[in-house]
Amino acid sequence: MSVLSFTDARRTVELVASDLKAGGTESVPLARAAHRVLAQSVIADRDLPPFPRSTRDGFAVRSEDVLHAPTTLRVVGEIRAGADPSLICPELQSGTAVEIMTGASLPSGADAVIMVEYTSRPDEHSVLIERSSVARKNVVPAGAEARSGTTLLAPGTRLDYAAIASAASAGRAELAVFIRPRVAILTTGDEIVDVTAKPGPYQIRNSNSHSLAAQVAAAGGEPIILPIAPDEPVRLAELIALGLEHDLLLMTGGVSMGKHDLVEPVLAKFNARFRFTGAHIQPGKPIVFGEARLPKTSNRVPHPDLREGWDTTPFFGLPGNPVSTMVCFELFVRPVLDALSGTRPRPLFFTRARLASTLKTKTGLTRFLPATLSGALADTTVDLIPWHGSGDVVATARANCYIVVPPDRETIPAGEFISILLRGAEL
Ligand code: AMP
Ligand code: MG
Repeated sequence: MSVLSFTDARRTVELVASDLKAGGTESVPLARAAHRVLAQSVIADRDLPPFPRSTRDGFAVRSEDVLHAPTTLRVVGEIRAGADPSLICPELQSGTAVEIMTGASLPSGADAVIMVEYTSRPDEHSVLIERSSVARKNVVPAGAEARSGTTLLAPGTRLDYAAIASAASAGRAELAVFIRPRVAILTTGDEIVDVTAKPGPYQIRNSNSHSLAAQVAAAGGEPIILPIAPDEPVRLAELIALGLEHDLLLMTGGVSMGKHDLVEPVLAKFNARFRFTGAHIQPGKPIVFGEARLPKTSNRVPHPDLREGWDTTPFFGLPGNPVSTMVCFELFVRPVLDALSGTRPRPLFFTRARLASTLKTKTGLTRFLPATLSGALADTTVDLIPWHGSGDVVATARANCYIVVPPDRETIPAGEFISILLRGAEL
């Protein structure tokens, strides 16, 4: 039995994760590459921008002509976005200006753009520059964002929408990405029934497999929901064996101290190495983490889609209480999924907000309590939601973050800035 502090448990997971690798790679069209992890570099195939780009509608000028405004320049033409400026104005001469649109290339000789708002037109052939300016004003020089041949995105980058834009700018219609890790989800409990079944009066619908599948998918994995395991060692062992053929096995329930909590003893038969068997947190104290291996005597032939070889598979035994399962996923499973997806584990991203009402807890555990963050940008407050403990999915579904209570705090007064963990697919 090793029960760790929250920080030590998290560090242990990150350490194990640092040895894990993604499986193979596949090529996907850019339109389906969002949230995937890049398996190759994306290199700029041209300068970005490819020409000196005007960032304003206005007049391209030689800056020495506009150091002292007001001044009048002769207008020699108009350059629209996409036009070749050399056809309109091969070389901008002193005392002249060319009308230019946002996104168009400056002509040779021009080195600044006066925005149209600072000009007026005494007549169709001239422009009055009302404000003085300097070189480079409203211009992005060719190659300023990236030189041709430089790396825009490195392997291991998780492709968010900005990274997708970067790849598109480099002309990449297809990208090599890592294959999503396959994550087996195994829920245990004699009382648990499938969501499609009509539950008996004392049965509970399986919510954990579905919340976990949603979390796995949001974190970039491919969830595979296994049949529900009864609290009976033979069938449980069969399903654990099936689960261990995947890249990661997530189990829920059966990890407490009850006499029908069989996950740990059954896992022990699979050469399990337990890294920890609990963390001083609430919810989620009985969480179990380790690696296990199918017995050598197993004659199961791995499906070609399943993980290669017969090496160890990381597993988590998550507490059965639905909110514990959800919170433990966010705190501990994500780093492992990141590593198996081919990217460095994202640190937990805490932010701070003002506590709306005084909070009282017992010391000894780091608590992650469902809460709502509300208010305008400069004045966000956070408040606990009333809940009935870690079985209360209804209240948790109404929350949008977790208040983090350090283990040494008993009372936190209203008005204090406290740590919160945001909840959302993008984190
Ligand atoms: P356990 O960790 O197995 O002792 O379960 C703790 C609590 O969580 C019990 O009230 C279970 O009924 C409940 N629970 C366990 N698994 C699930 C599940 N898959 N969906 C919903 N509730 C569950
Ligand atoms: Mg149970």
